[in-house]
Amino acid sequence: MKAFTYERVNLPVDAAVKAARISNSKFIAGGTNLLDLMKLQVETPGHLIDINDLGLDKIEPTTDGGLRIGALVRNTDLAAHDIVRRKYGVLSRALLAGASGQLRNQATTAGNLLQRTRCPYFYDTNLPCNKREPGTGCAALGGYSRNHAIVGVSDQCIATHPSDMAVAMRVLDATIETVRSNGAIRSIPIAELHRLPGNTPQIEHTLEKGELITAVTLPPPVGGMHIYRKVRDRASYAFALVSVAAIIQRDGSGRVALGGVAHKPWRVEEAERALPKGAKAVSAKLLANARTTHDNAFKVSLLERTLASVINEAKA
Ligand code: SF4
Repeated sequence: MKAFTYERVNLPVDAAVKAARISNSKFIAGGTNLLDLMKLQVETPGHLIDINDLGLDKIEPTTDGGLRIGALVRNTDLAAHDIVRRKYGVLSRALLAGASGQLRNQATTAGNLLQRTRCPYFYDTNLPCNKREPGTGCAALGGYSRNHAIVGVSDQCIATHPSDMAVAMRVLDATIETVRSNGAIRSIPIAELHRLPGNTPQIEHTLEKGELITAVTLPPPVGGMHIYRKVRDRASYAFALVSVAAIIQRDGSGRVALGGVAHKPWRVEEAERALPKGAKAVSAKLLANARTTHDNAFKVSLLERTLASVINEAKA
């Protein structure tokens, strides 16, 4: 690991100011992804700003009937929260499908949203990767790409976003609250937080330099059946090959977002209008313009079957 300096901060805006001012600085909270990346020298920050003392660890009802989740709420606490379990079941289930108990105890809400891809070539500094080192190429294209993205991909990168939680937050229409280094507060719909790779796969989100996530707000709960179905190579501690977060109503209408298929949680609202017609129709719209590789073409039919299973469960 490369040497770095470290400090703790007490105010969100101070954290944002320092991160904007100090080049090559990073926020650290749970550190469940960042420390691994630092040990492998995939990330080499010169300065760490520890934000664990910011007091952003509360879960509070909002005046409009929604829920405000502090950026530092640990994944375990969020999954177990009474309101989350009763009113936002898809979120609780997605969280419990992620990582391991130990990691969920440490991982934070904001860190989960901003975690980096688990593309194995990104983690291997001996191999080309446009995300790690722009302009060097993409070892996954032409390499082993079974876990990689099938929609929203580019010629520069076919990595997926690894979060389960973010997929549930996308189906719940969450809003990300931030503070910028000038003290301005910003609200970002989750649909606009993560970027597709395009020609700049190293830029993964729309946050400015120094901009700190302070909370995630959920709108008032929508009723219906909340389902999170994750298909993976082993029963726990594995990332999704495909996952489906769904909220389905009695009349068959609903919402669907996908994990494991794109560089961001994947939702196509137009596809949801096809829900009463069944999984094939929804899948066709969700994966319109899919670009698969030899290794990951199976995800198209796997997703259709997973969606069918989710729709059947909702009807039962
Ligand atoms: Fe890097 Fe993206 Fe290619 Fe993986 S898919 S090697 S992260 S550029």
